[in-house]
Amino acid sequence: MKKIILITILALVVNCSAFTSSKSSDSKTPLLAAYYLLSSSAYSTTCTSSFGTGVADFISKTFTCVTVTVSGTNYIFKTSSLPTYKSYYWGSTSLGYENAFYSNTTGTNYGNPNKILSQSYTITVPITNTSTTAPSAALGTIGVATNGIVIYNDYAAPGDSLATEYYTFDTAQGHPTNTGSYHYHVEPPKITNTDSALVGIAMDGYLIFGKKHDTTTSGLTSFSLAGTSSSTKCVGSGLSTTLPTTWAYKSNYETNTSHTAGTNSYHYHVNNGSEVLGIILSTKLIGAGGTSL
Ligand SMILES: [Zn+2]
Ligand SMILES: [Zn+2]
Repeated sequence: MKKIILITILALVVNCSAFTSSKSSDSKTPLLAAYYLLSSSAYSTTCTSSFGTGVADFISKTFTCVTVTVSGTNYIFKTSSLPTYKSYYWGSTSLGYENAFYSNTTGTNYGNPNKILSQSYTITVPITNTSTTAPSAALGTIGVATNGIVIYNDYAAPGDSLATEYYTFDTAQGHPTNTGSYHYHVEPPKITNTDSALVGIAMDGYLIFGKKHDTTTSGLTSFSLAGTSSSTKCVGSGLSTTLPTTWAYKSNYETNTSHTAGTNSYHYHVNNGSEVLGIILSTKLIGAGGTSL
């Protein structure tokens, strides 16, 4: 009987995840994936947050579901990347289950076979980063959202495309990998809806805001999918020299980092493309530094 169950579970394990994530397993590790599927995580509407000595208010008062400490010249973000809201991907036997998906204008969403499982991400972010010369590609998890959910780039699993995977997003525009790692690629409506809300922080230490800089979208660059260009940032109308003033912790950020030295007040925006084109970050970052494990 156990054998039959295991075979059934293995049959459910497919490659439908961002291959660039260090947390993703591939077909070489089906037993590991089966183990993860069996060790389900409990849905909870609450989560634990903690902030160590020296962590600035712009982090401690805007991020939840993360543990943040200072280590040398870096912030260390730790997260299990578990959503505190309902999702199809908690599984039909969970209190967190909802049989609903994000409503698109270009197609109908459907569930992938994966379930949300607790992760143990460590994302190292430089506290002071004046670098504007990022490597051409940053793979895997490249940021963390203000609700503790990790942010992936715009790459999908091999043989797949984000334009295809997009239709497996839940109502919050997130989905899990085959190891249960729940993540975002595109605008997360639980955090931002075509506004200038703080979405999260990229591993290079630069902040990510919604689709607007205060109330405008002018001066924000566009990009192509799969990292052929860059992530979205302010480049015109003087916007690159200031953060959105609508962000309550703008002054705290400026007094706690050197990102704003000179005219380098760089930051990201969610791309203004609709739906699948509204990605949070491409593979191209602004600055160097930062790691994700
Ligand atoms: Zn994905
Ligand atoms: Zn901006």
